[in-house]
Amino acid sequence: MTMSESKKRAAASHLPTTAYTGISDRTQLNPIFARPGEDTDLPVDRIPDNESLPETAYQIVHDESMLDGNARLNLATFVGTWMDDHAARLYSESADKNMIDKDEYPQTAAIETRCWKMIAGLWNAPDPEKAIGTSTIGSSEACMLGGLALKRRWQQARRAEGKPTDKPNLVLSSAVQVCWEKFCNYWDVEARYVPISLDHKVLDGYELEKYVDENTIGVVAIMGVTYTGMYEPVAQISEALDRIQADTGLDIKIHVDGASGGMIAPFLQPELSWDFRVDRVVSISTSAHKYGLVYPGLGWVVWRTVEDLPADLVFDVTYLGGHMPTFALNFSRPGAQVLLQYYLFLRLGFDGYYRVQKASQDVALYLSGEIATMPAFELWNDGSDIPVFAWQLKKGHTENWNLYHLSERLRLKGWLIPAYPMPDDLSDLTVQRIVVRNGLSRNLAESLIGDIREAVEYLDQLEGPMPTEGQTASFTH
Ligand SMILES: *Cc1c(COP(=O)(O)O)cnc(C)c1O
Repeated sequence: MTMSESKKRAAASHLPTTAYTGISDRTQLNPIFARPGEDTDLPVDRIPDNESLPETAYQIVHDESMLDGNARLNLATFVGTWMDDHAARLYSESADKNMIDKDEYPQTAAIETRCWKMIAGLWNAPDPEKAIGTSTIGSSEACMLGGLALKRRWQQARRAEGKPTDKPNLVLSSAVQVCWEKFCNYWDVEARYVPISLDHKVLDGYELEKYVDENTIGVVAIMGVTYTGMYEPVAQISEALDRIQADTGLDIKIHVDGASGGMIAPFLQPELSWDFRVDRVVSISTSAHKYGLVYPGLGWVVWRTVEDLPADLVFDVTYLGGHMPTFALNFSRPGAQVLLQYYLFLRLGFDGYYRVQKASQDVALYLSGEIATMPAFELWNDGSDIPVFAWQLKKGHTENWNLYHLSERLRLKGWLIPAYPMPDDLSDLTVQRIVVRNGLSRNLAESLIGDIREAVEYLDQLEGPMPTEGQTASFTH
């Protein structure tokens, strides 16, 4: 374009009205924020007095959200950041559906039921027809529902025996996700945390008898601990509870928090007994928006049988002139994600899910293998459970920098890789974690390894220590 042409275009773009509707004008010189009479300095903390044009409002929101991190380079989150074009189309077609309107959207309701039945099958429910489940907004809600069912069952059993119900407790690892702290706080249940240690990196049944008693509503086992990605050995925890039952008569059930692993283990570790094959497991939850591969927010919770979900927790909504049971914290909630989950089940099938998860695991094993060879680091685990792993700085490697500094250096390249302290009793230990999700290709992983090597080289040649003021953990599981 010649100088005079571009001047002409620039001048044209200052003309009001129709001159701006052509895309080409806008791409030449974006006039959106320079239109006569256009108020572009909109207040951010109170509702503006006047309307703005849709293009202007759109552009402001669009541009501001560009300041967020790049989802593809975000190796901190477990939550899906990519779906294909067909999913995107379905999503925009169904964004208006409210999951609770079972009467208005009976097909979405029927599809929800099909989905949790498929999941009950994946989790080896003895009879998926006798199981009961629901979609939720995510694992947090699913865990709350699982916990509430445990609490109500315990209350009913205690009342039937004429015993008090004022001191329920729940036994869980100190490395549980924050939703369990919330559950215990919101529903007045004492949280009994079993600390992790170097000898017991996850809850594994060790000394469990010291934590459970007649007021224990259940034990939580995590398939894919958020801090590290490791599985807790559900069958081993169950065996410890068998011994406790033999000694004390207490019959304590397990809820499995399979936020990530619930959609990994059925495909990558089909032989591992962690699900309804373990008799003590009464309920399992997962986040569909993690390795279920759906956009946020969708979760699932399934109970082994209808009897495991106390009937007095269940409400009725009208459905096709009849009634449908619901158990949920929210009333209204998006229905589109349920359709997206069903789309993926049809689109990928068991084989497709296997291949997607295996590809993530391969990348995780490649990354952890490379990091294991670097003299600065020591692996905590290698990503062979869920494709998530953590490492620590090798003792004595350096006094000049820590993993927070490495996290900062990598952020300069766009990578979001958090460093954070482990929970009790290992809170003096700092680790760094990578979550490999669908979309982190082997290619991208190789670039990442190059960037980690370069950052470590830079940090290692420093002659003095990096400042540590203001360092904070970037992990908010
Ligand atoms: C992510 C996670 C949760 C919470 O899941 P949301 O879907 O984000 O509510 C619960 N438990 C574990 C183990 C998790 O990793």
